[in-house]
Amino acid sequence: MATSALSDKLSRLVKQMRGQARITEANVQDMLREVRMALLEADVALPVVRDFINRVKDKALGAEVVGSLNPGQALVGIVNRELVATIGEGVSDINLQAQPPAVILMAGLQGAGKTTTTAKLAKHLIEKRKKKVLTVSGDVYRPAAIEQLKTVTAQAGAEWFPSTPDQKPVDIARAAIDYARKQYFDVLLVDTAGRLAIDEAMMKEIRELHAALNPVETLFVVDAMQGQDAINTAKAFKEALPLTGIILTKLDGDSRGGAALSVRQITGAPIKFAGTSEKIDGLEVFDAERHAGRILG
Ligand code: GDP
Repeated sequence: MATSALSDKLSRLVKQMRGQARITEANVQDMLREVRMALLEADVALPVVRDFINRVKDKALGAEVVGSLNPGQALVGIVNRELVATIGEGVSDINLQAQPPAVILMAGLQGAGKTTTTAKLAKHLIEKRKKKVLTVSGDVYRPAAIEQLKTVTAQAGAEWFPSTPDQKPVDIARAAIDYARKQYFDVLLVDTAGRLAIDEAMMKEIRELHAALNPVETLFVVDAMQGQDAINTAKAFKEALPLTGIILTKLDGDSRGGAALSVRQITGAPIKFAGTSEKIDGLEVFDAERHAGRILG
């Protein structure tokens, strides 16, 4: 069943109030229920929805909605502004302010899109920031993942540093940094092993990698289709690592992308980029306004 836009639903509610002398607090509560539904339909995690609605409620119960000529539109305006402010806060390009090579650590579950995004980011940094970029894979559990990084790195026009399954991830990382320094690379992108679900051994390993690499960016790669589960994944990665940014992948899918709000709120890290296709050029700077419109439907 197609769901109509939030603003239509709210206008309908306001029409039902016609004849009333003024909009009451109860009317605002009814409207907020529609907002809540819209966020849940977009797969924003329940605790995050509650928090968000409480923030909006404080503003809505002020003069902005009660007493407004068009309360439905006024509320949509507040919700939209709050959503854009939340998911758009701190949006910025990749930070490269470090003694070269600037190290970027990619973290996330298996299948989130880490390897693909590593290559997309390499291409972005080469073309838009004119950097010399090296990639390396610390995924010693899946030789196919190392080969995959090699292939996509070539497509990106970057250089790939070899690694093998018999090595320790920390040793691979150190060797790659050493090589990057000697060869004057500006950036070293480190792809890491993921698991299908949160796993303590994986978290320990990536914490060790973080300590050895001292990255200037630690990016959490998360699948926008993950929906409600995104909150648990985000919590686990935030506890394990000082995340500096988020990349939301698979926004070309048909999800409403509520994961953006959940993950932003849980980690506190800015959403820097969005993945928009399987191809090497399918990476866009995250657009909070456009994304807020998509979440609200
Ligand atoms: P990893 O296990 O985290 O390294 O994930 P991969 O990079 O191997 O990606 C898993 C799958 O998701 C692959 O089939 C990718 O082509 C696909 N993928 C990654 N990012 C995107 C995206 O933004 N859009 C689409 N449609 N597919 C993506």
